[in-house]
Amino acid sequence: MEEALKQLEKESKILEGTPESRNSVGEAIHRYTEQFIQNMRKRKAFNLPEEADKQLNAIEFTEEGRSLSEILALFDRYVERPGLNPASGGHLAYVPGGGIPSAAWGDYMAAITNKYAGIFFGSPGAVRVENQVIKWLGDQVGYGGNFGGNLASGGSIANLIAIVAARDAFQLKGKEYEKTVIYGSSHMHHCLDKAIRIAGLGECIYRQIPLTNTFKLDVDILQKTIEEDQANNLSPFLVICSAGTTNCGVIDPMEQIADLCEEHNLWFHVDGAYGGLFAMLEEEKPKFNGMSRADSIVVDPHKTLFLPYGLGVVLVKNIEHLKKSQYYVADYMQDAKEYDDELSPAEVSPELTKHFRGMRLWLPLLLHGIAPFKACMREKLLLTRYFREGLKDIPNINVCNEPELSIFAFRYEDPRASKALNNRINELLVQEIHKDGRVFLSSTTINGEFALRIAILSFRTHKQEIDTALRVLHEKLIEIQRHHLANNSRNFIA
Ligand SMILES: *Cc1c(COP(=O)(O)O)cnc(C)c1O
Repeated sequence: MEEALKQLEKESKILEGTPESRNSVGEAIHRYTEQFIQNMRKRKAFNLPEEADKQLNAIEFTEEGRSLSEILALFDRYVERPGLNPASGGHLAYVPGGGIPSAAWGDYMAAITNKYAGIFFGSPGAVRVENQVIKWLGDQVGYGGNFGGNLASGGSIANLIAIVAARDAFQLKGKEYEKTVIYGSSHMHHCLDKAIRIAGLGECIYRQIPLTNTFKLDVDILQKTIEEDQANNLSPFLVICSAGTTNCGVIDPMEQIADLCEEHNLWFHVDGAYGGLFAMLEEEKPKFNGMSRADSIVVDPHKTLFLPYGLGVVLVKNIEHLKKSQYYVADYMQDAKEYDDELSPAEVSPELTKHFRGMRLWLPLLLHGIAPFKACMREKLLLTRYFREGLKDIPNINVCNEPELSIFAFRYEDPRASKALNNRINELLVQEIHKDGRVFLSSTTINGEFALRIAILSFRTHKQEIDTALRVLHEKLIEIQRHHLANNSRNFIA
């Protein structure tokens, strides 16, 4: 047996490595990531997928492993290259994520020390880090008093936790679902539709409140609808609004919605995954009036605080609601329950064992201070205005909405062309931008019409990238006129 143990120990120690092997792996990976960062502006923001990409599927896991250089080469060709490059400042689609290096170092420390951030008893320090980060984020959105929250993996899960908390706060029973009403809008993020279903609330009545002509949830209609529902013996329950919609970056009128929710005793949820944290900026605060009156708010530091993917946060105004919704009982956890100085993440989340996510925000905030984050947010807002101004120099481009934050939609619209032709040109424009790949923009549908949208939120997007975006747009429009429309009609683009 001793011999066998010796042999197995020797083999299993490969997992730990030696100081030399860890150093050389660390250095090689650092070299790779440094090159990645330093060559960012040479890399495309988007590479159309290719047939050859599939070769990744042929790579097998072997008993003996491979050399790191081989693995890095595979990664570079088959993982890093195809598709979107979210780390690129040219990523101007969807809601760009971040990837500040200091957050990766926070993750690295969390992973190497592997502190157990689920339960206070396990790691009081790790839990304090998480709670401190939650406290700071709550302060940023204007919460005070008995609020709390949870660091989840992203906005979708954070929204789900909030919807479940609302359900449990109202102690909804299955037999009441068909008379229970949820209010949202067509520009609400789709993860909330999902959250409603996953929370088992799919049988509730869902009312999609129409938008005003500036794409905000129409409060007058909301009020009328709530009152009608009450008159008809239904039970209004939850209003969901957006502090920055994904489609147009628009902020719903939260003050008025808060009034309504208060008056009618409804749960008021704000999805601020994209926009909520812009409330950190003094000059932007008035746009967010009413947000701090919400019963729950979601913010996504992996968007608006430029962190790598993996951190969305649910904040609940009265932490008791979240505790009531996520409590647990388990005999084998009895030791942990004795040490309760601070609330443990496991008491307010579906997760038990979890990644120590707090580190990816705690370290950057301490290291850089808050100021550079604010500067970066301000730069994005200003770049959005710069881009909007630049569009005025491209003939026949009209904005669908004036930017309120850093997302807005726009379209090519030649007054002399048919609706169908205009739509076609917009479609071609997106396709050509994707083929080109220097910048990546996406499309959406606004009032039934095909539109382009820009979302400026990458910390690596600066004036140079926006100038490129404007240039690409203009060039592609001219090319479309020359090639695609040659036989059709000329002179659509001046
Ligand atoms: C991105 C986003 C979500 C979803 O968050 P994930 O972090 O992608 O899961 C929800 N709501 C809004 C407004 C968003 O922009």
